[in-house]
Amino acid sequence: MTLTERMIEGARLNHFINGKRTAPRSGQYLQSFDPTTGQPWYEAADGDAADVDAAVQAAQAALVDPAWRRMTQSARGKLVRRLAELVARDADTLARIEMRDNGKLLREMQAQLGAMPDTYHYFAGMADKLQGETIPVNKLDMLNFTLREPLGVIGMITPWNSPLMLLTGTLAPCLAIGNTVVIKPSEHTSASTLALAELIQEAGFPDGVVNVVTGHGKTAGEALTRHPGIAKIVFTGSTATGRRIATNAAGNLVPCQMELGGKSPHVVFDDVDLDRAVNGVVAGVFAAGGQTCIAGSRCFVEARVYRDFIERLADRAKRVRIGHPADEATELGPLALAAQLEKVETYVSYGVADGAKIAAGGRRPQDEALVRGWYFEPTVLVDAKNEMRFMRDEIFGPVVGVMPFRDEDELIRLANDTHYGLAAGIWTQNIDRAMRFARNVDAGTVWINTYRSAAYMSPSGGFKESGYGKRGGFEVMREFSRLKNVVIDHSGATQDPFVIRLR
Ligand code: NDP
Repeated sequence: MTLTERMIEGARLNHFINGKRTAPRSGQYLQSFDPTTGQPWYEAADGDAADVDAAVQAAQAALVDPAWRRMTQSARGKLVRRLAELVARDADTLARIEMRDNGKLLREMQAQLGAMPDTYHYFAGMADKLQGETIPVNKLDMLNFTLREPLGVIGMITPWNSPLMLLTGTLAPCLAIGNTVVIKPSEHTSASTLALAELIQEAGFPDGVVNVVTGHGKTAGEALTRHPGIAKIVFTGSTATGRRIATNAAGNLVPCQMELGGKSPHVVFDDVDLDRAVNGVVAGVFAAGGQTCIAGSRCFVEARVYRDFIERLADRAKRVRIGHPADEATELGPLALAAQLEKVETYVSYGVADGAKIAAGGRRPQDEALVRGWYFEPTVLVDAKNEMRFMRDEIFGPVVGVMPFRDEDELIRLANDTHYGLAAGIWTQNIDRAMRFARNVDAGTVWINTYRSAAYMSPSGGFKESGYGKRGGFEVMREFSRLKNVVIDHSGATQDPFVIRLR
């Protein structure tokens, strides 16, 4: 049976535990909805603590099973490469499943899935390059070295906005290192992760290396973050949930990697081609309906060109083509969840109540073809101020607040006046100024004359309440391995047993 056939209308999807599709112990299922119509699409197992425990036990057993533990690094790398090939083979199907689940544009999801095999290949190549070091110590008859080992069972909790892309950034290195994994996808977008699990099995990974438990965050997710068998938690989502998860994990002294929200500053100076900058700001906040953690949702424009810029931005926002995400001409699809639509509406109303003015959008489209879906017009709120509620909280929708600034000092003060520190963008031809901004802004990623340009080789991850830990590049291999120090005495001498050997 092909992936597409398995993901048919009305399908009932089970957990993937120890290499088998496993029904939930409770017998309960939850519904997932199509955001273009608001109608149910499929059902996924509504997992609970018992299902999570079964998955963690499977992952623990796989971790010490010689089939995985004694597999050579090169053989692990080959398996990850095989997975890359299978993802490439089924990329279009996976993209369509994700589009159907979260309403993002088909061509956006195709771009994400198109890049995913390269991510697996990149980390597959690292499987046999993670090495320890020999440490020179002042004892000539001793060999002191380090080993890099898998951390253990990694618990991964993924969100609904880009499920597989966000999963891949940590799953690929975790597999290359030799960890085992339990994934809890968002209850709203379980299908693509379950489809990927099938490919993992087809690739030939031993049973239990990757397990997927679907269900609600507050039950299955919570159980995973409290489970004592977990070695590290990876979480992408809201800051509030991240804080709760970190607290749970701390109960077991388990470290976390947190990719949380953002309220990223996007800056336009007067020395740039304004239409190009408008295009960049549109890419930053209207692409993917603004449902990205890196959305450039606070836009600062140099006062001299402020009026001109907001006119052009509003004009472009009004011309954004809203429609079905599968349509090639569509630029903005629906929001992924009904709750998200309500949140966006609420924050726009806060903005207006606080004194910002709507220059474009601000409501649901009235078009007959769109009224049943969870659509919202791309919205430009001008004359915004940093202290307004919609400028402080992550909205996760197609809403940008724009405000003028006078000079660089004011800009840096405004840009950093946020709890978040995920990303920042700047448009200027002046490299000195761009570098001053890059050095002074509190953001894990800074884009100069571009925005939303990601690469699996780059270490990404936020500061402040945007989280901690890096994904991407070699850095992530260190995040998911543990460092062991080994000391060998080859002197043959017997030492005084009552004195520590410090020198
Ligand atoms: P959450 O942060 O609550 O959810 C993200 C993931 O965490 C989902 O898999 C969710 O599962 C799971 N989860 C929720 N509660 C718990 C818990 N107590 N223990 C363990 N896992 C849990 O985000 P929401 O989906 O509620 O969205 C709310 C807001 O969060 C958005 O408006 C946006 O601002 C932000 N967000 C940011 C993302 C980012 O990429 N930075 C991604 C998603 C959201 P389930 O979905 O099943 O509840």
